[in-house]
Amino acid sequence: MHIIVIGSGLAGLTAAISLAKSGHRVQVLESAPKITYIGAGIQVSPNSSRILRHLGVDKFIEQYCTEPVDHRMLRWQDGKMLVQCPLKEPARKEYGSPYWHIHRADLHRGLLECAESLGVESFFDCRVVDADPALPSVTTKDGKQWTADLIIASDGLHSTCRHIVLGRSSPPIPTGQMAYRVTLPASRLKGIEGLNDLITIPGNVHWIGPKGTILSYLLEGINDTLVNLVFTCDVELGTMEDGVNQKNGTPDEVLKAFQGWDPRIGTIVQHVDSVLEWRLYIHDSVDHWAHPSGRFCLIGDSAHAMTPYLAQGAAMGIEDAAILGGLLEAFPDAKDLEESLAVYEKLRVGRTSMVAAASIDSRWFTQMEDGPEQERRDEYLLSHPGIWPNHINIRSRKEFLDELFGYDAYAALEDELKATGLNDRARKRM
Ligand SMILES: Cc1cc2nc3c(=O)[nH]c(=O)nc-3n(C[C@H](O)[C@H](O)[C@H](O)COP(=O)(O)OP(=O)(O)OC[C@H]3O[C@@H](n4cnc5c(N)ncnc54)[C@H](O)[C@@H]3O)c2cc1C
Repeated sequence: MHIIVIGSGLAGLTAAISLAKSGHRVQVLESAPKITYIGAGIQVSPNSSRILRHLGVDKFIEQYCTEPVDHRMLRWQDGKMLVQCPLKEPARKEYGSPYWHIHRADLHRGLLECAESLGVESFFDCRVVDADPALPSVTTKDGKQWTADLIIASDGLHSTCRHIVLGRSSPPIPTGQMAYRVTLPASRLKGIEGLNDLITIPGNVHWIGPKGTILSYLLEGINDTLVNLVFTCDVELGTMEDGVNQKNGTPDEVLKAFQGWDPRIGTIVQHVDSVLEWRLYIHDSVDHWAHPSGRFCLIGDSAHAMTPYLAQGAAMGIEDAAILGGLLEAFPDAKDLEESLAVYEKLRVGRTSMVAAASIDSRWFTQMEDGPEQERRDEYLLSHPGIWPNHINIRSRKEFLDELFGYDAYAALEDELKATGLNDRARKRM
Protein backbone atom coordinates (compact mmCIF):
# COMPACT_ATOMS: atom_id res chain seq x y z
CA MET A 1 0.00 0.00 0.00
CA HIS A 2 0.95 3.64 -0.32
CA ILE A 3 0.66 5.32 3.09
CA ILE A 4 1.01 9.00 4.00
CA VAL A 5 1.93 9.95 7.58
CA ILE A 6 1.26 13.55 8.62
CA GLY A 7 3.84 14.76 11.13
CA SER A 8 7.43 13.79 11.73
CA GLY A 9 7.20 13.61 15.53
CA LEU A 10 8.03 10.60 17.68
CA ALA A 11 4.76 8.78 16.91
CA GLY A 12 4.75 9.65 13.20
CA LEU A 13 8.32 8.53 12.62
CA THR A 14 7.82 5.29 14.55
CA ALA A 15 4.70 4.62 12.48
CA ALA A 16 6.64 5.33 9.28
CA ILE A 17 9.35 2.86 10.33
CA SER A 18 6.87 0.23 11.43
CA LEU A 19 4.89 0.47 8.17
CA ALA A 20 7.96 0.56 5.94
CA LYS A 21 9.22 -2.57 7.67
CA SER A 22 5.84 -4.16 6.95
CA GLY A 23 6.49 -3.66 3.24
CA HIS A 24 4.54 -0.48 2.50
CA ARG A 25 5.57 2.68 0.64
CA VAL A 26 5.57 5.51 3.20
CA GLN A 27 5.71 9.29 2.75
CA VAL A 28 5.88 11.69 5.70
CA LEU A 29 4.59 15.27 5.39
CA GLU A 30 6.02 17.61 8.03
CA SER A 31 5.08 21.26 8.48
CA ALA A 32 8.44 22.38 9.91
CA PRO A 33 10.98 23.53 7.29
CA LYS A 34 13.54 21.31 8.99
CA ILE A 35 13.73 19.19 12.10
CA THR A 36 14.62 21.37 15.07
CA TYR A 37 15.51 19.59 18.22
CA ILE A 38 13.89 20.52 21.50
CA GLY A 39 16.44 20.75 24.27
CA ALA A 40 15.03 18.28 26.74
CA GLY A 41 15.05 14.65 27.73
CA ILE A 42 12.51 11.88 27.39
CA GLN A 43 11.92 8.70 29.32
CA VAL A 44 11.46 5.54 27.28
CA SER A 45 9.90 2.84 29.43
CA PRO A 46 10.14 -0.93 28.66
CA ASN A 47 6.77 -1.04 26.87
CA SER A 48 8.16 1.37 24.26
CA SER A 49 11.87 0.40 24.26
CA ARG A 50 10.69 -3.15 23.42
CA ILE A 51 9.11 -1.78 20.24
CA LEU A 52 12.06 0.43 19.29
CA ARG A 53 14.32 -2.61 19.65
CA HIS A 54 11.94 -4.78 17.61
CA LEU A 55 12.03 -2.17 14.84
CA GLY A 56 15.82 -1.84 14.93
CA VAL A 57 15.81 1.77 16.16
CA ASP A 58 18.05 0.78 19.08
CA LYS A 59 21.04 0.58 16.73
CA PHE A 60 20.61 4.30 16.03
CA ILE A 61 20.09 5.47 19.61
CA GLU A 62 21.44 3.05 22.18
CA GLN A 63 24.77 4.82 22.54
CA TYR A 64 22.90 7.94 23.75
CA CYS A 65 20.74 6.15 26.34
CA THR A 66 21.25 5.99 30.08
CA GLU A 67 19.42 3.56 32.34
CA PRO A 68 18.02 5.03 35.56
CA VAL A 69 18.68 2.87 38.59
CA ASP A 70 15.53 3.89 40.42
CA HIS A 71 12.75 6.43 40.92
CA ARG A 72 13.06 8.34 44.19
CA MET A 73 10.35 10.56 45.59
CA LEU A 74 11.61 13.34 47.84
CA ARG A 75 9.83 15.79 50.11
CA TRP A 76 9.61 19.19 48.43
CA GLN A 77 10.97 21.39 51.24
CA ASP A 78 14.06 19.50 52.33
CA GLY A 79 14.66 16.70 49.81
CA LYS A 80 14.10 13.97 52.42
CA MET A 81 13.62 10.64 50.61
CA LEU A 82 10.09 9.28 50.97
CA VAL A 83 10.25 6.21 48.73
CA GLN A 84 12.63 4.50 46.36
CA CYS A 85 11.39 2.27 43.58
CA PRO A 86 13.83 0.31 41.37
CA LEU A 87 13.65 0.87 37.60
CA LYS A 88 16.70 -0.57 35.86
CA GLU A 89 16.58 -4.07 37.31
CA PRO A 90 12.84 -4.79 36.97
CA ALA A 91 12.84 -3.26 33.47
CA ARG A 92 15.44 -5.71 32.25
CA LYS A 93 14.63 -8.73 34.45
CA GLU A 94 10.84 -8.67 34.74
CA TYR A 95 9.79 -6.75 31.67
CA GLY A 96 12.55 -7.85 29.31
CA SER A 97 13.50 -4.46 27.91
CA PRO A 98 15.45 -1.48 29.27
CA TYR A 99 14.16 1.76 30.77
CA TRP A 100 16.00 4.53 28.94
CA HIS A 101 16.60 8.21 29.38
CA ILE A 102 17.61 9.94 26.16
CA HIS A 103 17.79 13.45 24.79
CA ARG A 104 14.81 14.04 22.49
CA ALA A 105 17.17 15.29 19.81
CA ASP A 106 18.99 11.95 19.80
CA LEU A 107 15.80 9.90 19.76
CA HIS A 108 14.35 12.03 16.98
CA ARG A 109 17.51 11.90 14.90
CA GLY A 110 17.77 8.12 15.42
CA LEU A 111 14.16 7.61 14.29
CA LEU A 112 14.71 9.79 11.24
CA GLU A 113 17.89 7.93 10.27
CA CYS A 114 16.19 4.58 10.76
CA ALA A 115 13.20 5.72 8.64
CA GLU A 116 15.50 6.97 5.87
CA SER A 117 17.43 3.68 5.89
CA LEU A 118 14.13 1.92 5.15
CA GLY A 119 13.30 4.17 2.20
CA VAL A 120 10.72 6.39 3.93
CA GLU A 121 10.40 9.67 1.99
CA SER A 122 10.16 12.84 4.13
CA PHE A 123 8.79 16.16 2.87
CA PHE A 124 9.53 19.21 5.03
CA ASP A 125 7.87 22.64 4.94
CA CYS A 126 4.82 20.68 3.90
CA ARG A 127 1.98 21.76 6.20
CA VAL A 128 -1.31 19.93 5.75
CA VAL A 129 -4.10 22.51 5.72
CA ASP A 130 -7.08 20.35 4.78
CA ALA A 131 -8.07 16.73 4.44
CA ASP A 132 -10.74 14.64 2.78
CA PRO A 133 -10.79 11.45 4.83
CA ALA A 134 -13.18 9.66 2.47
CA LEU A 135 -10.95 9.76 -0.61
CA PRO A 136 -8.55 9.89 1.28
CA SER A 137 -6.48 12.96 0.46
CA VAL A 138 -4.77 15.91 2.10
CA THR A 139 -3.98 19.37 0.78
CA THR A 140 -0.74 21.06 1.73
CA LYS A 141 -0.19 24.80 2.11
CA ASP A 142 1.14 25.08 -1.48
CA GLY A 143 -2.25 23.84 -2.75
CA LYS A 144 -0.97 20.39 -3.71
CA GLN A 145 -3.32 17.47 -3.17
CA TRP A 146 -1.83 14.20 -1.96
CA THR A 147 -3.64 10.88 -2.12
CA ALA A 148 -2.78 7.45 -0.73
CA ASP A 149 -4.43 4.17 0.24
CA LEU A 150 -4.21 5.18 3.90
CA ILE A 151 -3.47 8.51 5.60
CA ILE A 152 -2.31 8.55 9.21
CA ALA A 153 -2.54 11.85 11.06
CA SER A 154 0.24 12.09 13.59
CA ASP A 155 0.13 15.85 13.79
CA GLY A 156 0.32 16.17 17.55
CA LEU A 157 -1.60 17.91 20.30
CA HIS A 158 -2.81 20.84 18.17
CA SER A 159 -3.79 18.52 15.31
CA THR A 160 -5.29 19.91 12.10
CA CYS A 161 -6.89 16.53 11.34
CA ARG A 162 -8.45 15.47 14.66
CA HIS A 163 -11.75 17.29 14.17
CA ILE A 164 -11.94 16.10 10.55
CA VAL A 165 -11.64 12.47 11.61
CA LEU A 166 -14.00 12.85 14.57
CA GLY A 167 -16.50 14.94 12.61
CA ARG A 168 -16.70 17.48 15.43
CA SER A 169 -14.55 20.01 17.20
CA SER A 170 -12.33 18.50 19.90
CA PRO A 171 -9.65 21.00 20.89
CA PRO A 172 -6.98 20.29 23.51
CA ILE A 173 -8.16 20.91 27.08
CA PRO A 174 -5.87 22.95 29.36
CA THR A 175 -4.97 21.13 32.58
CA GLY A 176 -4.20 24.31 34.52
CA GLN A 177 -0.58 23.25 34.76
CA MET A 178 2.63 24.13 32.96
CA ALA A 179 6.18 22.80 32.84
CA TYR A 180 9.53 24.57 32.87
CA ARG A 181 12.11 22.44 31.11
CA VAL A 182 15.82 22.88 31.61
CA THR A 183 19.05 21.08 30.70
CA LEU A 184 22.54 21.99 31.83
CA PRO A 185 25.97 20.30 31.76
CA ALA A 186 26.51 18.23 34.90
CA SER A 187 30.10 19.51 35.01
CA ARG A 188 28.81 22.95 36.02
CA LEU A 189 27.52 21.46 39.27
CA LYS A 190 30.63 19.41 40.06
CA GLY A 191 32.00 19.87 43.54
CA ILE A 192 28.91 21.66 44.89
CA GLU A 193 27.86 20.30 48.27
CA GLY A 194 24.80 18.04 48.21
CA LEU A 195 24.71 17.66 44.42
CA ASN A 196 27.16 14.82 43.80
CA ASP A 197 24.56 12.00 43.65
CA LEU A 198 22.30 14.07 41.43
CA ILE A 199 24.99 14.57 38.81
CA THR A 200 26.59 11.14 38.92
CA ILE A 201 23.89 8.49 39.57
CA PRO A 202 21.43 7.92 36.72
CA GLY A 203 17.97 7.91 38.25
CA ASN A 204 14.65 9.70 38.46
CA VAL A 205 14.81 12.13 41.35
CA HIS A 206 11.32 13.47 41.96
CA TRP A 207 10.54 16.19 44.48
CA ILE A 208 6.81 16.10 45.24
CA GLY A 209 5.03 19.09 46.76
CA PRO A 210 1.91 21.24 46.87
CA LYS A 211 0.70 22.03 43.33
CA GLY A 212 4.01 21.07 41.80
CA THR A 213 6.78 18.57 41.25
CA ILE A 214 10.37 18.65 40.05
CA LEU A 215 11.91 15.74 38.18
CA SER A 216 15.65 15.47 37.61
CA TYR A 217 17.49 12.90 35.53
CA LEU A 218 20.73 12.55 33.59
CA LEU A 219 21.23 12.45 29.84
CA GLU A 220 24.17 11.26 27.82
CA GLY A 221 25.20 14.38 25.91
CA ILE A 222 27.69 14.38 23.03
CA ASN A 223 30.46 16.02 25.02
CA ASP A 224 29.13 15.94 28.55
CA THR A 225 26.55 14.40 30.83
CA LEU A 226 23.51 16.69 31.05
CA VAL A 227 21.17 17.25 33.97
CA ASN A 228 17.57 17.39 32.70
CA LEU A 229 14.96 19.01 34.92
CA VAL A 230 11.20 19.28 34.51
CA PHE A 231 9.47 21.71 36.87
CA THR A 232 5.70 21.24 36.85
CA CYS A 233 3.35 23.66 38.58
CA ASP A 234 -0.02 25.36 38.37
CA VAL A 235 -0.14 27.98 35.62
CA GLU A 236 -1.05 30.62 38.21
CA LEU A 237 2.22 29.96 40.07
CA GLY A 238 4.23 30.23 36.87
CA THR A 239 4.39 32.80 34.13
CA MET A 240 2.28 31.61 31.17
CA GLU A 241 0.04 34.30 29.80
CA ASP A 242 -3.36 33.37 28.35
CA GLY A 243 -3.17 32.07 24.80
CA VAL A 244 0.54 31.18 24.98
CA ASN A 245 1.40 27.47 24.70
CA GLN A 246 5.18 27.50 24.57
CA LYS A 247 7.76 30.19 25.18
CA ASN A 248 11.24 30.85 26.43
CA GLY A 249 11.41 31.52 30.15
CA THR A 250 14.11 32.61 32.56
CA PRO A 251 15.79 30.96 35.56
CA ASP A 252 14.31 33.73 37.75
CA GLU A 253 10.79 32.67 36.80
CA VAL A 254 11.56 29.10 37.86
CA LEU A 255 13.03 30.30 41.16
CA LYS A 256 9.95 32.41 41.84
CA ALA A 257 7.51 29.56 41.09
CA PHE A 258 9.49 27.14 43.30
CA GLN A 259 10.33 29.38 46.22
CA GLY A 260 10.74 27.49 49.49
CA TRP A 261 11.64 24.15 47.83
CA ASP A 262 14.78 22.12 48.68
CA PRO A 263 17.61 24.70 48.72
CA ARG A 264 19.57 22.52 46.26
CA ILE A 265 17.05 23.46 43.59
CA GLY A 266 17.94 27.14 43.90
CA THR A 267 21.61 26.27 43.69
CA ILE A 268 21.08 24.28 40.48
CA VAL A 269 18.88 26.91 38.84
CA GLN A 270 21.57 29.57 39.39
CA HIS A 271 23.67 27.62 36.86
CA VAL A 272 20.94 27.42 34.21
CA ASP A 273 21.15 29.52 31.00
CA SER A 274 17.83 28.89 29.29
CA VAL A 275 14.36 27.70 30.16
CA LEU A 276 11.50 26.44 28.00
CA GLU A 277 7.93 26.83 29.22
CA TRP A 278 5.15 24.49 28.09
CA ARG A 279 1.46 24.67 28.89
CA LEU A 280 0.07 21.19 29.61
CA TYR A 281 -3.05 19.95 27.81
CA ILE A 282 -5.00 16.74 27.40
CA HIS A 283 -7.51 15.45 24.86
CA ASP A 284 -10.83 14.07 25.97
CA SER A 285 -10.95 10.33 25.50
CA VAL A 286 -12.88 9.31 22.36
CA ASP A 287 -14.01 5.89 21.08
CA HIS A 288 -12.87 6.25 17.48
CA TRP A 289 -9.59 7.33 15.99
CA ALA A 290 -10.44 6.12 12.47
CA HIS A 291 -12.72 7.80 9.98
CA PRO A 292 -15.67 5.61 8.85
CA SER A 293 -14.05 5.45 5.38
CA GLY A 294 -11.43 3.14 6.88
CA ARG A 295 -8.78 5.14 5.03
CA PHE A 296 -7.79 7.83 7.53
CA CYS A 297 -6.84 7.56 11.19
CA LEU A 298 -5.18 9.33 14.11
CA ILE A 299 -2.22 8.19 16.17
CA GLY A 300 -0.06 9.65 18.95
CA ASP A 301 -0.94 12.96 20.60
CA SER A 302 -3.47 13.84 17.89
CA ALA A 303 -5.49 10.85 19.15
CA HIS A 304 -4.79 10.85 22.89
CA ALA A 305 -2.65 13.70 24.24
CA MET A 306 -2.22 13.04 27.95
CA THR A 307 -0.58 14.63 30.97
CA PRO A 308 3.14 13.89 31.40
CA TYR A 309 2.99 12.76 35.05
CA LEU A 310 3.74 9.13 34.13
CA ALA A 311 6.03 9.93 31.17
CA GLN A 312 3.89 7.82 28.84
CA GLY A 313 2.64 10.17 26.08
CA ALA A 314 5.22 9.24 23.46
CA ALA A 315 5.27 5.63 24.68
CA MET A 316 1.57 5.36 23.82
CA GLY A 317 2.21 6.78 20.33
CA ILE A 318 5.01 4.25 19.85
CA GLU A 319 2.64 1.45 20.90
CA ASP A 320 0.03 2.74 18.41
CA ALA A 321 2.67 2.64 15.68
CA ALA A 322 3.64 -0.95 16.53
CA ILE A 323 0.05 -2.16 16.42
CA LEU A 324 -0.66 -0.41 13.10
CA GLY A 325 2.53 -1.77 11.54
CA GLY A 326 1.80 -5.29 12.78
CA LEU A 327 -1.77 -5.17 11.50
CA LEU A 328 -0.84 -3.89 8.08
CA GLU A 329 1.86 -6.52 7.81
CA ALA A 330 -0.75 -9.19 8.49
CA PHE A 331 -3.32 -7.52 6.20
CA PRO A 332 -1.40 -5.63 3.52
CA ASP A 333 -4.31 -5.08 1.09
CA ALA A 334 -6.31 -1.85 1.03
CA LYS A 335 -9.56 -3.84 0.97
CA ASP A 336 -8.88 -4.99 4.57
CA LEU A 337 -8.19 -1.53 5.96
CA GLU A 338 -11.57 -0.93 7.56
CA GLU A 339 -11.33 -4.17 9.51
CA SER A 340 -7.69 -3.52 10.46
CA LEU A 341 -8.47 -0.04 11.76
CA ALA A 342 -11.32 -1.46 13.85
CA VAL A 343 -8.82 -3.85 15.49
CA TYR A 344 -6.39 -0.93 15.95
CA GLU A 345 -9.04 1.07 17.79
CA LYS A 346 -10.10 -1.89 19.87
CA LEU A 347 -6.55 -2.50 21.07
CA ARG A 348 -5.50 1.10 21.56
CA VAL A 349 -8.41 3.23 22.80
CA GLY A 350 -8.92 1.35 26.08
CA ARG A 351 -5.24 1.11 26.92
CA THR A 352 -4.45 4.75 26.27
CA SER A 353 -7.51 5.85 28.28
CA MET A 354 -6.34 3.70 31.19
CA VAL A 355 -2.84 5.17 31.07
CA ALA A 356 -4.14 8.74 30.68
CA ALA A 357 -6.37 8.28 33.75
CA ALA A 358 -3.49 6.81 35.76
CA SER A 359 -1.34 9.79 34.78
CA ILE A 360 -3.96 12.20 36.11
CA ASP A 361 -4.21 10.21 39.36
CA SER A 362 -0.47 10.53 39.65
CA ARG A 363 -0.79 14.32 39.50
CA TRP A 364 -3.05 14.38 42.56
CA PHE A 365 -0.98 11.80 44.42
CA THR A 366 2.28 13.73 44.01
CA GLN A 367 0.93 17.28 44.32
CA MET A 368 -1.02 17.15 47.59
CA GLU A 369 -1.18 20.22 49.79
CA ASP A 370 0.61 19.70 53.09
CA GLY A 371 -1.84 18.40 55.70
CA PRO A 372 -3.23 15.19 57.21
CA GLU A 373 -3.70 13.41 53.84
CA GLN A 374 -0.14 14.23 52.79
CA GLU A 375 1.16 13.07 56.17
CA ARG A 376 -0.66 9.73 55.82
CA ARG A 377 0.72 9.37 52.29
CA ASP A 378 4.28 10.11 53.39
CA GLU A 379 4.05 7.73 56.36
CA TYR A 380 2.91 4.95 54.02
CA LEU A 381 5.66 5.72 51.49
CA LEU A 382 8.34 5.71 54.17
CA SER A 383 7.23 2.30 55.40
CA HIS A 384 6.80 0.74 51.93
CA PRO A 385 10.00 1.20 49.90
CA GLY A 386 10.31 -0.68 46.60
CA ILE A 387 7.59 -2.47 44.64
CA TRP A 388 4.55 -3.94 46.43
CA PRO A 389 1.17 -5.39 45.48
CA ASN A 390 -1.55 -2.75 46.01
CA HIS A 391 0.98 -0.01 46.83
CA ILE A 392 -0.78 3.36 47.11
CA ASN A 393 1.78 4.87 44.73
CA ILE A 394 1.19 3.46 41.25
CA ARG A 395 4.88 3.79 40.41
CA SER A 396 5.51 1.21 43.14
CA ARG A 397 2.38 -0.89 42.53
CA LYS A 398 3.29 -4.29 41.13
CA GLU A 399 0.03 -4.92 39.24
CA PHE A 400 0.14 -1.53 37.58
CA LEU A 401 3.78 -1.85 36.57
CA ASP A 402 3.07 -5.29 35.11
CA GLU A 403 0.24 -3.80 33.07
CA LEU A 404 2.19 -0.72 31.98
CA PHE A 405 5.74 -1.91 31.45
CA GLY A 406 4.92 -5.57 30.81
CA TYR A 407 2.73 -4.69 27.81
CA ASP A 408 4.01 -6.27 24.62
CA ALA A 409 2.20 -4.64 21.70
CA TYR A 410 3.12 -7.44 19.31
CA ALA A 411 1.91 -10.14 21.69
CA ALA A 412 -1.31 -8.19 22.36
CA LEU A 413 -1.95 -8.02 18.62
CA GLU A 414 -1.26 -11.68 18.10
CA ASP A 415 -3.60 -12.59 20.97
CA GLU A 416 -6.34 -10.42 19.50
CA LEU A 417 -5.97 -11.91 16.01
CA LYS A 418 -6.08 -15.41 17.46
CA ALA A 419 -9.07 -14.65 19.67
CA THR A 420 -11.07 -13.22 16.76
CA GLY A 421 -10.01 -15.86 14.24
CA LEU A 422 -8.44 -13.17 12.05
CA ASN A 423 -5.10 -14.91 12.35
CA ASP A 424 -6.26 -17.59 9.90
CA ARG A 425 -6.65 -14.94 7.22
CA ALA A 426 -3.46 -13.05 8.01
CA ARG A 427 -0.87 -13.06 5.23
CA LYS A 428 1.93 -13.72 7.60
CA ARG A 429 1.97 -15.15 11.09
CA MET A 430 3.26 -12.51 13.47
C1 LIG B 1 6.82 18.20 29.90
C2 LIG B 1 6.58 16.95 29.12
C3 LIG B 1 7.35 15.82 29.38
C4 LIG B 1 7.09 14.63 28.69
N1 LIG B 1 7.85 13.53 28.97
C5 LIG B 1 7.60 12.37 28.33
C6 LIG B 1 8.37 11.21 28.63
O1 LIG B 1 9.31 11.25 29.42
N2 LIG B 1 8.04 10.04 28.00
C7 LIG B 1 7.02 9.96 27.09
O2 LIG B 1 6.75 8.86 26.56
N3 LIG B 1 6.30 11.07 26.78
C8 LIG B 1 6.55 12.25 27.36
N4 LIG B 1 5.83 13.37 27.03
C9 LIG B 1 4.83 13.29 25.97
C10 LIG B 1 5.45 13.34 24.58
O3 LIG B 1 6.32 14.46 24.47
C11 LIG B 1 4.40 13.41 23.51
O4 LIG B 1 3.37 12.48 23.78
C12 LIG B 1 4.99 13.08 22.14
O5 LIG B 1 6.05 13.94 21.82
C13 LIG B 1 3.90 13.18 21.07
O6 LIG B 1 4.42 12.75 19.84
P1 LIG B 1 3.58 12.94 18.51
O7 LIG B 1 4.47 12.45 17.43
O8 LIG B 1 2.23 12.35 18.68
O9 LIG B 1 3.34 14.50 18.38
P2 LIG B 1 4.41 15.67 18.18
O10 LIG B 1 5.69 15.32 18.82
O11 LIG B 1 3.73 16.92 18.60
O12 LIG B 1 4.66 15.69 16.62
C14 LIG B 1 3.72 16.20 15.72
C15 LIG B 1 4.44 16.57 14.45
O13 LIG B 1 3.48 16.96 13.48
C16 LIG B 1 3.89 18.16 12.85
N5 LIG B 1 2.66 18.83 12.40
C17 LIG B 1 1.74 19.43 13.17
N6 LIG B 1 0.73 19.90 12.41
C18 LIG B 1 1.03 19.56 11.12
C19 LIG B 1 0.38 19.77 9.88
N7 LIG B 1 -0.79 20.39 9.81
N8 LIG B 1 0.97 19.32 8.75
C20 LIG B 1 2.17 18.66 8.80
N9 LIG B 1 2.83 18.43 9.95
C21 LIG B 1 2.27 18.87 11.10
C22 LIG B 1 4.64 18.92 13.94
O14 LIG B 1 5.51 19.89 13.41
C23 LIG B 1 5.37 17.78 14.64
O15 LIG B 1 6.61 17.50 14.02
C24 LIG B 1 6.07 14.58 27.69
C25 LIG B 1 5.31 15.71 27.43
C26 LIG B 1 5.57 16.89 28.11
C27 LIG B 1 4.73 18.08 27.79
